[in-house]
Amino acid sequence: MKEKIEDIVGAGNVSDKEQDLLVYQRDSSGLEGHPRLVAWPATTDEIARIMKLANLRSFPVVVRGSGTSVAGGTLADDVLILDLSRMNKVLRLNMTEHSVTVQPAVTVRQVNTLLSSYDVHFPIIPHTFAGVSTIGGIVSRNMPSPVPRYGRAGDWVMSLEVVDGTGKVFNPSKVPLFIGSEGILGVITQLTVKLVKPIASLSGSWKEGTPEELLSLLGELKVDQDVVTVEFFDAYCSQLLGLGDKPHLWVEYVFLDKGDIKEQQELYAVQSRLARLFSLLKQNKQTIHTDPFVPVEGMAEFLRFCRKNELPVYGHLAAGIMHACIRKEHPEYAKRIYKLAQKLHGYPSGECGIGRAWKEYLPHAAKEELTASKKFYDPSGIMNPGCLL
Ligand SMILES: Cc1cc2nc3c(=O)[nH]c(=O)nc-3n(C[C@H](O)[C@H](O)[C@H](O)COP(=O)(O)OP(=O)(O)OC[C@H]3O[C@@H](n4cnc5c(N)ncnc54)[C@H](O)[C@@H]3O)c2cc1C
Repeated sequence: MKEKIEDIVGAGNVSDKEQDLLVYQRDSSGLEGHPRLVAWPATTDEIARIMKLANLRSFPVVVRGSGTSVAGGTLADDVLILDLSRMNKVLRLNMTEHSVTVQPAVTVRQVNTLLSSYDVHFPIIPHTFAGVSTIGGIVSRNMPSPVPRYGRAGDWVMSLEVVDGTGKVFNPSKVPLFIGSEGILGVITQLTVKLVKPIASLSGSWKEGTPEELLSLLGELKVDQDVVTVEFFDAYCSQLLGLGDKPHLWVEYVFLDKGDIKEQQELYAVQSRLARLFSLLKQNKQTIHTDPFVPVEGMAEFLRFCRKNELPVYGHLAAGIMHACIRKEHPEYAKRIYKLAQKLHGYPSGECGIGRAWKEYLPHAAKEELTASKKFYDPSGIMNPGCLL
């Protein structure tokens, strides 16, 4: 297999050496996989030829963007890893229709740095990993924006080029099928995404109170057109952030006169403090960060559950995406959280993907739909085995 792939990608662009494979044994999930080969293709044609070969030999393939998946989406045993990092070119900028066409490994920061002089941007910007997360990875996971009005990555996709599990290259008419499919149906090799004029947060305010008081404020904030984002921090997270021992909301506004913090340097200082919460929690042994979507009607019950079980919780309250945190000694809480989200008519992962870590909680209807699509696009079942299904 290695020699055949070398014929396609050239010497030095495929490896089975232990030291090269080491990095692909992990992603950001803390889980492990043991791949057999890694290849670094540079073109769609190379990927198509590799997929044809893999299909012929029933050799499993896992696509990797930057490997920041927190759900183990890029890990598996005895597979070929397709590392897309050489496919990192911005191909076309169309300022008439406000779109950009990119290769999959272009990062969000890379494209937005390029676009900054045109006063447009790609608005799905992860809080912490914009410089690393690839646009291919973000679309494959259908990442939500922390700013609810921007929706999810899929809302910005105009067209895709895909290589499926048989090596066929095409521009799917059923684009949504490939969005959020976490690399189990095909490799996204090119994307055209819409752009929008950035809305900057110009001011922000802290609000403190009991969870019930903060939830009652949410109703007003959600209908306020000037509100950009509403973040929730329970008492534990507020303390870690140095805010005192009461739960807090952080609200950002598009207008300078709406929030209490108007000085831009101070606003950035708050934003970067919030971005550190993930690692502060990890340092405090809160290692598992769940991310269910909880509808607003069920939010009070969800927060009560976290408080009763002493699980720190923070999240994008306006979007209903909550990170309840669990110590690794008590993984059983993950099951309870996902079951509760289901009971409250939510979804197991609102943000970071299902991957391998949370696949047992994938709702039945989604499983059936993906299984049917997989039979069509990946009949040999070689694409990202063990992920999602
Ligand atoms: C500190 C931290 C913060 C994070 N914050 C957020 C957040 O705020 N919001 C959020 O939604 N997520 C967040 N994530 C997780 C999120 O999964 C990634 O940041 C991002 O979506 C994945 O980008 P990536 O390029 O690293 O993809 P990878 O991790 O490499 O891949 C993710 C999945 O997509 C598949 N894939 C990747 N590229 C392609 C492609 N071209 N074609 C087909 N399949 C592909 C992979 O097989 C895998 O299943 C965070 C992760 C960390 C570690």
